[in-house]
Amino acid sequence: MARLLFRDCRVWDGSGSPAYPADVLVEGDRVRAVATQRGQLESAGAEVIETKGMTLMPGMVEGHAHISFINGARPTDLGDTPPEEHTLLSARNARMLLDHGFTSAYSAASAKLRLDIVIRNAIDAGDLPGPRLRACGPEITVTGGLGDERRPHQFRDSFAMVADGPLEVTKLARLCVREGADSIKLNISGDDHTRTGSLPRTVMSEDEIRAGVTAARDFHRMVNAHCRAAESVKRAVRCGVDVIYHCEHADEEALDLLESVKERVFVGPAIGLLHAAVHEAPEGAIQTGIRRGYDLGLEAASRSYPEMKKRGIRVVIGGDYGFARTPQGENARDISHFVRYLGYNPGEALVCATRYGAELMGLGHEAGLVREGFLADLLLVDGDPVADVDILRHANRLVAIVKGGAVWKLDRDVLARRAVRAAE
Ligand SMILES: [Zn+2]
Repeated sequence: MARLLFRDCRVWDGSGSPAYPADVLVEGDRVRAVATQRGQLESAGAEVIETKGMTLMPGMVEGHAHISFINGARPTDLGDTPPEEHTLLSARNARMLLDHGFTSAYSAASAKLRLDIVIRNAIDAGDLPGPRLRACGPEITVTGGLGDERRPHQFRDSFAMVADGPLEVTKLARLCVREGADSIKLNISGDDHTRTGSLPRTVMSEDEIRAGVTAARDFHRMVNAHCRAAESVKRAVRCGVDVIYHCEHADEEALDLLESVKERVFVGPAIGLLHAAVHEAPEGAIQTGIRRGYDLGLEAASRSYPEMKKRGIRVVIGGDYGFARTPQGENARDISHFVRYLGYNPGEALVCATRYGAELMGLGHEAGLVREGFLADLLLVDGDPVADVDILRHANRLVAIVKGGAVWKLDRDVLARRAVRAAE
């Protein structure tokens, strides 16, 4: 059995407690031991990594992954991409996530029916590098909802499948499940950056939502939803949705409802896209009305998310990376957005990026913490991510990336330089 000994590290263990000095032994796919006294762990047969005080922390979890989103500007870019190219690009994105320290990813929708599914299967089979992946189907939307790009004279595909009425939603949900999706996605509210659907509107009926939830439940699958408007959040909670994304316009009643199901439900703000639209889009690049929607969204998130934190609602990172303004690979930026906008301190934001993410993956009992017996999904970080969360954005600061005990990356040059410096 492969053994790996991280010696002399500071362990930030994912619980939210401060980091502490320790040695950590990995055996097979698990953390075998964490010793706060140096030199206690048997190093025989182990590859010893002298960290010289670097931080060892749980691998990050992308909680709103779109591995098949290809950094396009328009929703139709996804529909226009042929499946062959699209599969290769999705494989590239999966690898990119792992390269950036994400050892798990929970999908918030796939751009085509089987993209997440084939990539997940290939990763699980060891044929492709990538994070542990929970696959989702495409977004199920109603006529005129977010993702419906068709026109009367012209069929246009985007990232969604259109269903009207409970029967059609049921059929699409079952189709996703039959093809192997771990979850389905319902677009309950509209959005602020497309031709159709506008910010405060809730366009999917409770009958339709309930039909999707029932079909998914029958097959023991999860349900994710796109909900910007307050009413859409309420419908999602009332109908039993598990993962409710965006939620920035949640009012008092919506917050109360979320709190009432906080043991079961996860929320994700997808804040990266709002930040990028408001602060990084060139002047005039976004139409004035749409731009206003983004401004209001970011303001609303800055009000509603501190409230959710106070109420103990579990929030995961994942900022809708995979669009032109939020390219894949920048996913860890979300952690600093949580600190800047949503009222989290760095340690709390890091818990969202690790422990809560693992719980969303259904792995809360064995991942998301550096703990004896847990899966060895680990990052060795050059620096202190609690003092500066931005460190995690930079792949060159991730000295080691370990997934399930398997070393994906180990930067021996950095370790050697550190050893020389320590000796001087
Ligand atoms: Zn999304």
